[in-house]
Amino acid sequence: MSVFELPDFDAHEAVVHVCDAASGLKAIIAIHNTRRGPAMGGSRMWRYADSTEAATDALRLSRGMTYKNAMANLPIGGGKAVIIGDARSQKTPELFRALGRAVESLGGRYITAEDVGTAPADMHHVRETTRYVAGLSGELGGQGDPSPATALGVFVGLGAAARHRLGADSVKGLHVAIQGLGHVGFDLARQLHEAGARLTVTDIDRGVCLAAAEAFGASVVAPEEIVDVEADVFAPCALGASLNPLTLPRLKCRVVAGAANNQLATDDIGDRLRDAGILYAPDYVINAGGIIKVCAEYFGESPHSVEGRVRAIADTLADVFARADKDGIATNRAADELARQKLA
Ligand code: NAD
Repeated sequence: MSVFELPDFDAHEAVVHVCDAASGLKAIIAIHNTRRGPAMGGSRMWRYADSTEAATDALRLSRGMTYKNAMANLPIGGGKAVIIGDARSQKTPELFRALGRAVESLGGRYITAEDVGTAPADMHHVRETTRYVAGLSGELGGQGDPSPATALGVFVGLGAAARHRLGADSVKGLHVAIQGLGHVGFDLARQLHEAGARLTVTDIDRGVCLAAAEAFGASVVAPEEIVDVEADVFAPCALGASLNPLTLPRLKCRVVAGAANNQLATDDIGDRLRDAGILYAPDYVINAGGIIKVCAEYFGESPHSVEGRVRAIADTLADVFARADKDGIATNRAADELARQKLA
């Protein structure tokens, strides 16, 4: 089946299939939209069952990057690369050099970075064969891990959502339930604790839970219990699809605001959250801090300019909430509409 027939095809500008027999690279690069600038989005390495599954992911993720980058007011479009393979056993420097050659051949229409299954060390090999790569470590002129910027964006975005739904001037005294204490979740917990919020946390890694209990006085619950916690805010910071038909009826919060990508299992879950009186901060708006930082790095802007832009996520979310209220629609649908306007 051609990509044109796949359900997730959405007028993507280009979908390039890449094969390098010498290194074993099989990848698909999808460029969704370059109206605002070159397409930027990471390279994901995953054990896709077949090329249709990989192409579907590339189509879906690259479109998501277009919307995310537009809502963050960045001068870039949306793209994504997916590498078909096992990140635990099939990574080699030559594979990433081959990916770099493919990216270079696109002449700057697509800029890559790290994503699930790839790391800054892999991007260093990509950098050997293309200049169109971002998300590098300090030694290569990059600004390092984007997670703290993502956590800051989620922190200010959570504050904006609490203001809108709970009338809270700050997060002080709010009870926040955090699912996932990784690079973003743990830093978010720190910021919330310092701002006076009360925390209940979970992670499948018991060690980070104990660390959060000790450092932030957080209560710890089992991973399967976090959606049942009676909190003001639920912050999904682990994997995607944590808001689904099974978890939705169990939620006892008034706000959902977290870092995870693809939090809604399907778009209609956003409608159901609205019906339940729960304000949802659309994931690709609230978690844009990392791409804001990576984009600034790529265009050689000072790290100091990043913080103000990340803090502006709060204003963007306030616009989304106002639009949703005005039109009587779910916040995820309001965000999609605003993103499409920015692309028009
Ligand atoms: P991470 O891998 O560092 O952390 C994820 C954490 O979630 C880990 O500690 C893991 O043990 C935990 N986890 C996994 N399954 C869980 C479960 N069922 N219940 C509870 N905890 C579970 O990832 P991260 O960089 O912190 O990113 C978190 C989320 O935010 C991801 O969805 C990611 O795609 C998204 N995101 C991250 C960034 C960034 O800058 N890192 C930017 C945008 C979006």
